[in-house]
Amino acid sequence: MNNCIFCKIAAGDIPAHIIYEDDVVISFVDLSQATTGHVLIIPKTHVQDIFDLSDELAGEVFKRVPRIARAIEKAFPTIIGLNVVNNNREGAGQSVFHSHIHLIPRYEDDDFEIKFIDHSETADHAQIAEKIKEALAL
Ligand code: 5GP
Ligand code: ZN
Repeated sequence: MNNCIFCKIAAGDIPAHIIYEDDVVISFVDLSQATTGHVLIIPKTHVQDIFDLSDELAGEVFKRVPRIARAIEKAFPTIIGLNVVNNNREGAGQSVFHSHIHLIPRYEDDDFEIKFIDHSETADHAQIAEKIKEALAL
């Protein structure tokens, strides 16, 4: 897609520190390095986000995550964990509108943060489940 920075990386038109590439995906070092070893995996085909991803392409992209996660652990043996993050649309923090998966290794005392607030006391879990189940059936 014109003007998409990740399409340009996939096409080799702009440089990136590529760690893995095959027919379907390309994986490269994220510029920001939220933590050391932070990498992205993207489909080579332009797809904006999870809402546009076909089941098949999602499977192809996501199935490559564990191998790269294990490589990150080998390369950085001091990691204590790894977050897989996928931001979809601006409201969820997406800033590059070509679908990508972040692999963010975690270290003792790093400054990366994902915050889940517990709303279990006030949430209507049954109604939430019902709504989504209904939508799935449509
Ligand atoms: P998002 O906020 O869309 O989930 O993540 C986009 C990510 O792409 C950010 O973590 C940002 O650092 C990374 N990024 C943006 N432009 C470039 C680039 O030109 N090269 C690389 N390697 N990463 C980029
Ligand atoms: Zn693109």
